[in-house]
Amino acid sequence: MADQVPSHKLASGYTMPLIGFGIWKVPRETCAEQVYNAIKLGYRQIDGAWDYQNSKEAGEGVRRAISEGIVKREDLFITSKLWNNYHKREHAFEMAKLELEAWGIGYFDLFLIHFPISLEFIPFDQLRWPCFWTDKEQTKVTPLAKVPISETWKALEDMVQTPENPDGFVRSIGVSNFHSQLIYDVLSYAKIPVSVLQIEHHPYLTQLGLIKVAQENNIAVTGYSSFGPQSFIELNNKDAVSAKPLFEVDVVKSIAEKHGKTPSQVLLRWSTQRNITVIPKSNNVDRLKQNLESATFNLSDEEIKQISALNQGLRFNDPDSFGFRIFA
Ligand code: NAD
Repeated sequence: MADQVPSHKLASGYTMPLIGFGIWKVPRETCAEQVYNAIKLGYRQIDGAWDYQNSKEAGEGVRRAISEGIVKREDLFITSKLWNNYHKREHAFEMAKLELEAWGIGYFDLFLIHFPISLEFIPFDQLRWPCFWTDKEQTKVTPLAKVPISETWKALEDMVQTPENPDGFVRSIGVSNFHSQLIYDVLSYAKIPVSVLQIEHHPYLTQLGLIKVAQENNIAVTGYSSFGPQSFIELNNKDAVSAKPLFEVDVVKSIAEKHGKTPSQVLLRWSTQRNITVIPKSNNVDRLKQNLESATFNLSDEEIKQISALNQGLRFNDPDSFGFRIFA
């Protein structure tokens, strides 16, 4: 199955599969098993992050698949992300090393700045996963820290393994939840290419201009939350609860019927056919399989346009809810 998944050559020279398995909200108790099953099914890209709190378990799943000879480390593409409290150079290194130790996989294929938001540092032994909070009880949002993105980007560059930097432990670097102005800014000083931009992307939030800026600058785009509101219903996000599920939208349903595919496969193909990587998350083996097999048919240009016309600029993953208006 893995050989049916197209891949994308990154600016770094490495290759990223166009379909991966995202592990946000995959429970710690089942994460090792799910990652192992996903690899067994044919997934070769795993999208994780410090903030997902399941890196140790994900790493166990990966190492089990490797030890059973299902894959070799170099067959896999593993992503993690720098959390907001660690944008200062020394904290970025400390977090990245702890994260790599948790995964136990030797190196990261891709390391991203999770959000262009720098928050005050909280010592790791005080609160390991702060999210946007200062305390475990989640009573106070962490204040901003004065760290420019240029410092954080330079720290990521210094993590990349090169002949001059043999101690590097990252292959490609990139950004997430950035807008075009900040991408242009990073491009003005980046010495190592920005390989990937990871953004929220689904038919209710198409972000065509931002995608154009990235692709024109040889930055591969990964779209997250491909099923729009679906992932945010369990978080009681009121916009998600009131939005019509994309699986039930007539245009999506009728295109799916025409191709003999599921609406979820149509939503994923709408992205991958435009060279946008997808990283759908599922706790269900049948759905994981369905998602992985979503690149085995083609939509017409007209069908792609019809789906894109569903755009409403509707964003579900917005730190505005914590007072950080990065998309305003
Ligand atoms: P998603 O769009 O993958 O949706 C997940 C939801 O869809 C779950 O409720 C799941 O049960 C359901 N689902 C999955 N496959 C299905 C299928 N075939 N049919 C019907 N329902 C199906 O949303 P997501 O988890 O928000 O995003 C995917 C990944 O993107 C995350 O796991 C994470 O790795 C990454 N992500 C990154 C950021 C970021 O800030 N960079 C933010 C959110 C998510």
